[in-house]
Amino acid sequence: MKKPLVLLVYTQRLILGRTFEMIGNLGILTLAAQLDADGFEAYAYTGIATDVFKTIERMKPRLFAVCFYCDFDNQSAVAAIIKGLKNEAGNDFHVVLGGPQTLHMTEHDLERFGADAVIKGEGEESLPAWLRARRTGATAAVPGELLSGKSAEYIYLEDFSKYPLPRDDAAFDYAERPLMSVITARGCPYRCAFCFEGGNSKNLRMRAADDVLHEIETRLRRSRGPRYLFFCDDTFTADPKRLAELLKGVRRLRERHDFVWFCEGHPGFLARRPELIREMIESGMVRMQIGMESGVDRVLQAYGKRALPEDVKNVVDICYGEGLPQLAGNFIIGGAFETRRTLETTTRFALDLLYRAPGMLDLSTTFLMPLPGTRISTNPESFDIALEDPDCLTSIEDFPVNRTRELSVPELCRERSLFLTHISNAMKEQYANGRIPPERIRRDFELAFRYGIAAGYLKFLYGKDPVVVAYYRKLFDSEGLLKEWRELEGEEKERCFIQRVPDFSLVDFAALSAAETEILLEAGSSSVKETARMLKLSMEATSACLERLSAQHLTLFSPCR
Ligand code: SF4
Repeated sequence: MKKPLVLLVYTQRLILGRTFEMIGNLGILTLAAQLDADGFEAYAYTGIATDVFKTIERMKPRLFAVCFYCDFDNQSAVAAIIKGLKNEAGNDFHVVLGGPQTLHMTEHDLERFGADAVIKGEGEESLPAWLRARRTGATAAVPGELLSGKSAEYIYLEDFSKYPLPRDDAAFDYAERPLMSVITARGCPYRCAFCFEGGNSKNLRMRAADDVLHEIETRLRRSRGPRYLFFCDDTFTADPKRLAELLKGVRRLRERHDFVWFCEGHPGFLARRPELIREMIESGMVRMQIGMESGVDRVLQAYGKRALPEDVKNVVDICYGEGLPQLAGNFIIGGAFETRRTLETTTRFALDLLYRAPGMLDLSTTFLMPLPGTRISTNPESFDIALEDPDCLTSIEDFPVNRTRELSVPELCRERSLFLTHISNAMKEQYANGRIPPERIRRDFELAFRYGIAAGYLKFLYGKDPVVVAYYRKLFDSEGLLKEWRELEGEEKERCFIQRVPDFSLVDFAALSAAETEILLEAGSSSVKETARMLKLSMEATSACLERLSAQHLTLFSPCR
């Protein structure tokens, strides 16, 4: 007999970049594994809201239940989708609602969403119990289920080690992808005023390093190809002893598996423990994100960040010095006590960071969102904030829903746009003026081609230049056979064969000298020395030409024809 089919859905509106699809949702992959162990056939679907109906339609003939993950951003879409499903004739499956947004749900939400059940909290036990009861007709209450006239506790689980590991292949229409999310803890010890975790999460529940490492190894063994591990909790670095164990284990795993990794870091903590950053990079960390939020001390203090702009600056300096390829950071526009003055300070601060670390930073901005349970949403006036649209009906994080004492909603829009223009102009200028070290550009391409990490400068600048893309594509496809001019040593600079990189159609011949054009036309058939002889050029003149051609990403070099 076939097992009952369950579809777990994480959906968002069509937002720029669709990063939520790339990262996926570890929670529903974990629940899929649990349901599987409990005798169901479960799949996890992550996709845009308009595709949800199509996906459900494909599974409908056998579908036993659809379970929606609901957060602050997708709640109106989820409510509308559930209503649509319940109103459609012939839909003979259960509809369940779960996810972090259920924390603040009340009886009123039973009607608002129209699901068959709202189950509050971490669902490894309660969701299978509810579905089992539908199969057997049992009527006993399920912990966390919101029922009319009764209050329901949000379920927090303590010991995660007893639940099955997430199943990557439970993803609907599963195809191998580089990114693999891993969570090392639930909850957060910090209490940032704007953050859902900060306002709502109960105590921090950390997984033992051995459990995390066992999970990584198991999932890597089941997968093929290089991987990009995405540690998605905010507390990867929170406990130095556990961090040391994790790093040791990760280093061991990297001897057997090809992967690099990302994590979130806390600037206040890392600024005091710079040696950890080096260890993390040596253990394969290629990208980290830290909360930047604002360049103004008072604002960070009001948020309760337990870090100051000075800490952020120090972490940027350390990361750059240690060679971290990418450091991401976000600034909140229109947040606590925002004025034109604070925005000027934050802009100057961000530009200074870019100046200190050309080629490393991936800076972004958000507007403040009054997430339920946060101090910003419960007490906005104490941050000089007025909520214009507390339910966020006018925004999918692309538009402000608050103003500040000094700045209106349209002014905040304009200020965000100005901030981003300053940042992008500074990045373009750094690239155009050769301020980005070539080894950083090369490493970014390696991360993109090998591990699927295309972000920051690469996405915004280098990746848009077909000549540069062709150059690094050819370099990495050659698997070490081709070299760059700056890598050649001694006699190699005479013996090597010149290889032209892009199609002639991509070369701007008007920008080349006669000798450079000749070299390019002859490329592929002669060594550097033979080319110099043929064109009656000195070795010095030939080298100078090759250096310029290489700087324009037009030539690479091979030991043979
Ligand atoms: S912003 Fe990060 S550190 Fe602060 S409360 Fe939220 S999860 Fe914790």
